[in-house]
Amino acid sequence: MVEARGIHKSFGSLDVLKGVDLEVRAGEVTVVLGPSGSGKSTLLRTLNHLEKVDSGTVRVNGELVGYRRSGNRLHELRERDILKQRTQIGFVFQNFHLFPHLTVLENLVEAPVAALRRPRKDAVAGARALLDRVGLADKADAYPRTLSGGQQQRVAIARALALEPKLLLFDEPTSALDPELVGEVLDVIKDLAHRGTTMIVVTHEIGFAREVADTVVFMDGGRIVEQGPPGQVLDHPRHARTKSFLSKVL
Ligand code: ATP
Ligand code: MG
Repeated sequence: MVEARGIHKSFGSLDVLKGVDLEVRAGEVTVVLGPSGSGKSTLLRTLNHLEKVDSGTVRVNGELVGYRRSGNRLHELRERDILKQRTQIGFVFQNFHLFPHLTVLENLVEAPVAALRRPRKDAVAGARALLDRVGLADKADAYPRTLSGGQQQRVAIARALALEPKLLLFDEPTSALDPELVGEVLDVIKDLAHRGTTMIVVTHEIGFAREVADTVVFMDGGRIVEQGPPGQVLDHPRHARTKSFLSKVL
């Protein structure tokens, strides 16, 4: 489902991704761990072309992300085609990124109508069903600022789902939340996992990783240092850097 090959990315003289290969099978949950600055967010952002790679390729569902091939050259897609691709790859940010001037319902309706040209009536019905699924049916007409962080993040997840993406990317979805609100957001993500949603989740929630991840990936210094099933990476890490990181977060 996701095949990233040889991803390199620098910002000026700072090499942030130094040759990352990542594979995620359909229906699987991959949790990405690693210290601050190791390149987790940058990697996630290259997967839907929010960040342009310097070299390497990303394929999602067999389709090259951000580029089209002609002969042996790659040409960047037009903005319109990039946006269309992104409708297939949902992204949930640490700080929710809801549209503040739209109600909760309108936050969910906007993209399906604008990007997928869904009839508004269908988009509204879909949005209400999704709000129900994340436990916020009664908040349809509220504005984001009136919601708790946990509620806002659940709206953000529902908004991503409204486009029926093939892949969902989460960048530390609970790290901006008060501790007592973390569980309600993780529960929504767990429910998605049980429904077979393909997801890549950057998080420091080790308990969540243990329970939900098919694969845990540990990054350090712009590389994947170690990856495998949670029981292996979390309980029997092979690399000193993984051990030292886990000893700090566990
Ligand atoms: P954290 O756990 O703190 O979120 P991270 O693993 O997500 O860290 P990244 O955000 O990918 O790390 O950043 C990796 C490195 O790249 C950092 O040194 C960061 O300062 C740098 N970086 C990221 N984005 C940019 C940018 N747009 N311009 C310049 N430097 C950047
Ligand atoms: Mg980050």
